Amino acid sequence: MTFENLGLSQPILQAIEEKGYTAPTPVQSKSIDAVLQGRDVMAAAQTGTGKTAGFTLPMLELLSRGQRIRGNHVRALILTPTRELAMQVSESVKAYGKHLPIKSAVAFGGVKINPQMMRLRGGADILVATPGRLMDLYQQNAVQFKHLEILVLDEADRMLDMGFIRDIKKIIALLPAKRQNLLFSATFSEDIRQLAKGLIHDPIEFSVTPRNATAKSVAQRIYTVDKKRKPHLLSFLIGSNNWKQVLVFTRTKAGANRLTRFLEESGIKALAIHGNKSQGSRTKALAAFKENRVQALVATDIAARGIDIDQLPHVVNFELPHVPEDYVHRIGRTGRAGAVGEAVSLVCADEAKQLVDIERLIQQQLPREVMKGFEPVHAVPESGAPKPLKPKKPKKPKRDKPRSADDSEQKRPRRSGRSEQGRSGSGQRGSSQRGSGANKDASTSSSPWKK
Ligand code: AMP
Repeated sequence: MTFENLGLSQPILQAIEEKGYTAPTPVQSKSIDAVLQGRDVMAAAQTGTGKTAGFTLPMLELLSRGQRIRGNHVRALILTPTRELAMQVSESVKAYGKHLPIKSAVAFGGVKINPQMMRLRGGADILVATPGRLMDLYQQNAVQFKHLEILVLDEADRMLDMGFIRDIKKIIALLPAKRQNLLFSATFSEDIRQLAKGLIHDPIEFSVTPRNATAKSVAQRIYTVDKKRKPHLLSFLIGSNNWKQVLVFTRTKAGANRLTRFLEESGIKALAIHGNKSQGSRTKALAAFKENRVQALVATDIAARGIDIDQLPHVVNFELPHVPEDYVHRIGRTGRAGAVGEAVSLVCADEAKQLVDIERLIQQQLPREVMKGFEPVHAVPESGAPKPLKPKKPKKPKRDKPRSADDSEQKRPRRSGRSEQGRSGSGQRGSSQRGSGANKDASTSSSPWKK
C-alpha cells in the first residue's frame, strides 16, 4: 500500500514526502480509506501507531475540496485530552497541510484565552482543542459550529479518564447532526462504547494494537532496590550508561520535583513536567528535552500524555504506577516507529502488589536484576507466574460528581476526575470510569509498523 494509492492529492503527498514517510502504517491505510469514503470511524489505536496522520491526512483532503471557512466558524474539530497532545496534533496538522490553503488553530487551557479568541475570528478549517477551553470559547461566542463537518475524538479513553465526559457531551450537543465522526482510543472500554453509541453511525471499526500488549521492540527490565536508594541508583544508571535522553516517571508532582533536584545536584541536567507547572514551562521543558539540552525529563503520567519523541531510547519507572495500564502507556513512549527502546523499572518492597498487577496485565513476568552496590535490604517478594486475566464484569452506572483535588496525580486507581487541563487551570471535572478489560476484538499486528 502507498499513500498515492489511498487517493490523497499532490500537496498532501508532498508534505508526507517531506516528513520522510515512505509507506502508510496499518492505522493510516485503514483510516485514510474509511474517512475518504465519508464513513464514521471507531479505531483502537495508541499513540505511536501513526494515528494522527491517520485522521489528519484524509481530513485535509476532504476539507481542501470544500468551501472556505467563515469568521468564527470551524469545519473540523479535533478534541484531545491534554494540552501537550493538542499542541502536537496541531503541529502535525500544520506540517501535513503546509501546501494547502487550510487554516488551523489550537486552543487549550492554562494560557490566556484572548489570543485564541483573536485567532478564531477569521474562522478555522481545523480546530484542535481540549474540551474545557473549547467550552469557554464557545460561551464567549468565539467559536461556532454551524458549519462543522468532521468531529475527531482523539485518545477518547483518556478524555473519559480525565473526567471530560460532561464537556464532551455538551460539545456534541452543539454540533450539527449531519457530520462525520472519528473516534480514536487506545482502549475500547464499556465507557467508550457507551459514548460511541450516541455519536458514531455505522462506523468502520478497526484495531491495530492488541490492547495492553507491550511493544516487542521495548526491552523491559526491573531493578529491585530499596526505596531510599532509588534516586542514587537512577543517577548511577544515567551516568554509568551515559544515557543522553531518559524520560522518568514518578507518581506525584512533589516526587517529580524532589527527584529533579536530586538529579541536578548529582550533575545530571533534569527538568520536571507536571500539572503544577505553567504551560510555558512545560512547553520549554519538553522542547529542551527533545533538543537534547536536558538529559532527564521527570514527568507524572498525566503531564506525559501525548508526549511524542522520535527515537526516545530510555524510559524509567522511578515508581510503578498504581493503575497497571499506565505501565503500558509509559513504556510505549519508547521503542516507537521501529526503533529499539529500553524500559527500566526501579521496584522496592512496597511495590510488590503493583508489580504483580502489571505482570498480570501484560501476561509476562519481567526479568529482575540487582545492581551491585544497590542490593536491597528489603527484598521484593517473588511475583510468580502471572494469573490469567479475568473476563470483564459489567460496569456500575456512572457517577458524574466532581471530586476534590489533591497533590497526588495518582493516589488511587484512576477513577477520580482530577484533570490538569481545566479552565484557567482549575482542573475540576466530574468523574468517569475507566474500562479495564482486555480488548477482545483487538486484532492484527503487535507492531503497528508492520506492513
Ligand atoms: P502518532 O501515533 O500519530 O503519535 O505518530 C507517532 C509517530 O510516528 C510520529 O512521530 C509520526 O511523525 C510518525 N509517523 C506517522 N506516520 C508515519 C509513517 N507513515 N511513516 C513513518 N513515521 C510515521
